[in-house]
Amino acid sequence: MALDKDCLFCKIIAGEIPSTKVYEDEYVYAFKDIEPIAPVHYLFVPKTHICCAKKLGSDADHSMYAAKVFEAISKVAADEKIESFRVINNCGEDAGQSVMHVHFHMVAGRKMGWGEQSLG
Ligand code: 5GP
Ligand code: ZN
Repeated sequence: MALDKDCLFCKIIAGEIPSTKVYEDEYVYAFKDIEPIAPVHYLFVPKTHICCAKKLGSDADHSMYAAKVFEAISKVAADEKIESFRVINNCGEDAGQSVMHVHFHMVAGRKMGWGEQSLG
């Protein structure tokens, strides 16, 4: 686990900044989004500093975290009996990425439309 001392989500993983944990294992930390856009809004992050989805897919050492994140999402969905949900990743500024530590939003608990503005 290589954390970046200047990264907000690395500080959350390290417990330096408080968060409401919903799941944790060796590879993944998940917590409630501070500004939820739906009744369920969790963020799943690798427990190592990877900036973004572009980097996550750059080699097998990184991409195994994508598998671990989705295993974690499945476990949380099963534990919390969440039947329907959306997973979102924003990669880069134009896509709306505001924290440069790759994260996957798990959003549920309301009817969702489809389109650019539907989750804004
Ligand atoms: P992005 O816009 O990069 O895809 O998503 C970043 C998310 O992180 C946003 O939904 C935002 O509400 C959330 N966020 C930003 N700062 C904090 C924080 O300090 N704590 C928590 N729990 N969520 C945060
Ligand atoms: Zn980080």
